[in-house]
Amino acid sequence: MKKFIFVTGGVVSSLGKGIASSSIGTLLESHGYRITILKFDPYLNVDPGTMNPFQHGEVFVTDDGAETDLDLGHYERFTNAHITRKNNATSGQIYNAVLTREREGGYLGKTVQVVPHITDEIKNRILAVSRNVDIVITEIGGTVGDIESLPFLEAARQMQIQKEKDTLHIHLTLIPYIKAADELKTKPTQHSVGRLREIGIQPEILLCRTEKPLSDEIKEKIALFCNVKKGAVIEALDTDIIYEIPLIFSRQNLDNIILGYLGLKARRNNDLKKWKDIVYTLRNPKKDIVIGVAGKYVKLHDSYKSIYEALVHGGIANNVRVIYKKIDTEFVEREGMDKIAGDISGIIMPGGFGTRGIEGMIKVIKYARERKMPFLGICLGMQCACVEFARNVCGLKDAASTECNAGTSNPVICFLPRQRDVTLMGGTMRLGAYSCSLKKGTIAYSSYKKSVVCERHRHRYEFNNRYRNLFEKKGIVFSGIYKNEDLVEIIELKNHPFFVATQFHPEFRSKPFSPHPLFSAFIRSSLKHSLR
Ligand code: GLN
Repeated sequence: MKKFIFVTGGVVSSLGKGIASSSIGTLLESHGYRITILKFDPYLNVDPGTMNPFQHGEVFVTDDGAETDLDLGHYERFTNAHITRKNNATSGQIYNAVLTREREGGYLGKTVQVVPHITDEIKNRILAVSRNVDIVITEIGGTVGDIESLPFLEAARQMQIQKEKDTLHIHLTLIPYIKAADELKTKPTQHSVGRLREIGIQPEILLCRTEKPLSDEIKEKIALFCNVKKGAVIEALDTDIIYEIPLIFSRQNLDNIILGYLGLKARRNNDLKKWKDIVYTLRNPKKDIVIGVAGKYVKLHDSYKSIYEALVHGGIANNVRVIYKKIDTEFVEREGMDKIAGDISGIIMPGGFGTRGIEGMIKVIKYARERKMPFLGICLGMQCACVEFARNVCGLKDAASTECNAGTSNPVICFLPRQRDVTLMGGTMRLGAYSCSLKKGTIAYSSYKKSVVCERHRHRYEFNNRYRNLFEKKGIVFSGIYKNEDLVEIIELKNHPFFVATQFHPEFRSKPFSPHPLFSAFIRSSLKHSLR
């Protein structure tokens, strides 16, 4: 019998529903259950990939090339769930599917309505991911009380009626601390649960985000007013290490409470030792190391979520704590690198789109190349590394990517011939996993210790093979190639301790227990640099 858990959020957004859902996944997997996690986003965009990272944070890319919500990154990092484009849907996509079906005559003249047609589509999407798993965790984006998330909550309510013993509602809420009164306040939670009950959902479990521990008295009050058992009021105390959250939940017996509600047995002694180990490493590193993250979206932490996480994983692999120093490349464009460099031991340059901040990125790269500082360039970071090399080493002064300068006489990064006819923004992007063959004797090969790897992409422009010979002569090694189309995937510099740049996004594949090889190698090299 399949089981369905719904995770909703109350009071405010950004309480960490994605991490809470992932941690629940971790706990259930630790009991030997196969799980998957699905996220519904209530906004109307049909293509979330086109949204500005300043508003919504990183676009996470799956192996099958879906541009999804960043919470799916947490699902992959915390669990073994097989995450594909089916694991994320927006209201826009759901309405689009229903309206398209209606126009194709799929409803045979019926009146098409939110209930049951939209809600059926939502339920079908939940069932669609349930095939090879025991438990589906569905995270409903937004905050209870929003107009937009109502169809999702209604679908969850219907599922509870249809599969009463197999569904469970978990509500993540906030217990704010009021300094002046020196008190934790339960009223917003009471109201939020009240809203859920108005629409027919009684959550069985409350996860209470709080900056102070919840006393027994407070738990009793929450239980009484929200109509849940006291034992099911779980404290979700703030922590600076997200990988501690499964442990925090498990200490309060959340796994067994969930299994109890779903009528499931604990299948295995839940072994969270490896989680304890990484939290220990993160709390007791042998050294701190400062890594510069140089990009144009540094002001919003969520824009490079997977990059920061992959750096943490690279740190775990080397027993160090990575401290990030965010380098705004527009600032570097105006002021140069001198005011910034200081304590930095390595620089990572994430992806991005458009012209803004590019000249600053090129200055950062020149600095890393000339000072022999470890450098890891990703996607746009790789493209800028090629432009910098063309300009400052090969002497092609006007070298550019055609994304920034369409008329350059040296388009070292450009559209491929097959892409040139496609003018729409959609359809030109190389998305998802592609294979990459590695050249022996390179940093890439010695990091991965494999000759073929598979990595995820999200970009339009490619390295222009016309410049391959010149670049090689001047000291670039093309260490990774997508052989089917002879596309450059990885470049590195000879005579530099670690200057590696990838057209793909390695960060999407890094996990705390299997740190990405390039990130581990980059941190190892940065560590050496810091000891220099
Ligand atoms: N803007 C570049 C391209 O489209 C790089 C994209 C990225 O960094 N993700 O190719």
